[in-house]
Amino acid sequence: MNNHVTILEIDANAVLHNLNYFKQKLQANTKILVVVKAFGYGSDAVEIAKIVQNEVDYFAVAYSSEGIILRESGIKTPILVLHPQVENLNDIVKYRLEPNLYNFKIFDAFLQLADEAPLMNYPIHIKFNTGLNRLGFWHTDVPAILTSLKKSNNIKVESIFSHLAASEDPNEQEFTIGQINNFAYIVKQIYEHLGYEPMIHILNTSGIVNYSNAQFDMVRLGIGLYGFGNHPEVTAQLKNTHSLKSIISQIHLVQPGETVGYNRAFVANSPTRSATIPIGHADGISRRLGNKEGFVIINNQPAPIIGNVCMDMIMVDVSKIDCKEGDEVILFNHQQHIEYIAHKCETIPYETITAISQRVKRLVKS
Ligand SMILES: *Cc1c(COP(=O)(O)O)cnc(C)c1O
Repeated sequence: MNNHVTILEIDANAVLHNLNYFKQKLQANTKILVVVKAFGYGSDAVEIAKIVQNEVDYFAVAYSSEGIILRESGIKTPILVLHPQVENLNDIVKYRLEPNLYNFKIFDAFLQLADEAPLMNYPIHIKFNTGLNRLGFWHTDVPAILTSLKKSNNIKVESIFSHLAASEDPNEQEFTIGQINNFAYIVKQIYEHLGYEPMIHILNTSGIVNYSNAQFDMVRLGIGLYGFGNHPEVTAQLKNTHSLKSIISQIHLVQPGETVGYNRAFVANSPTRSATIPIGHADGISRRLGNKEGFVIINNQPAPIIGNVCMDMIMVDVSKIDCKEGDEVILFNHQQHIEYIAHKCETIPYETITAISQRVKRLVKS
């Protein structure tokens, strides 16, 4: 790592606290899948998996390469690959990952592979589209899926699932309940004809909070594990998991009329102490936070980012802060600060935390 002073600290106790918060909302026999895609929402998927592996039933990743990393790190928990491609199917089997089969192209390809190998009762998952219109079979595909499934004992449907489009939005309650009802109807048809009953699941974090009677057999916890409930009252009960920290590399005294940074975007009106921090837009600090839109915390005081955010550095105004070169800088260590950054960048915390680039060293605090 080229930069050992800029660190994303992952709070293991906070992760476990958040997991338990959601577990308490589950019925006794509801299983829990934890989503660790995108490096565990920008943290470290392997570390997150190690922290929670004894407390959860499943992991999910978006791509097979993410699942392979978990397996190579010794994670034994079942892993659902949410968005595999036909090209990944050999690796999926090699690493005993469990593919989501979402259309006939990949479903047929996997059946063929399973027949040729041959595999026995290999666990697969089938996703239905109930309104997100992103990934999944249509309800009209059920008869053809059943016909193929009944012919094969090479694969076993471990679960049937769907994904809600607006589980966090109270204005979309009617639509969401419609999705849940349509999903239940699809499942009923499959249960009637398949001869066994795969697990079923549809709830993400906000689904767990808002539609607790649709827990079915399992829920899929993502952002909630990482401290965000998509609702102020829920987030307030969760603990912050991602803390981004660095240090002051250098302090400059800038005289009136002098400028700081590219394009001379900050102009000093009075003598200004500017501190340079080794983190920039290549690390996930958006350029939108420049020119006093964003701030960092130094010795418990806010220091606005002045001038433009550079690729590898930002400069902050420390004129009113008692600090010196080498002092700690907090880019964020609380959900409210992350939400503020997301707001300034016209996005959501999901994007803010997953944007922290791999150049930033990860460190688990336990
Ligand atoms: C990312 C993802 C989740 C997790 O959603 P959160 O809102 O982060 O809880 C669940 N299911 C699917 C299919 C996903 O892609």
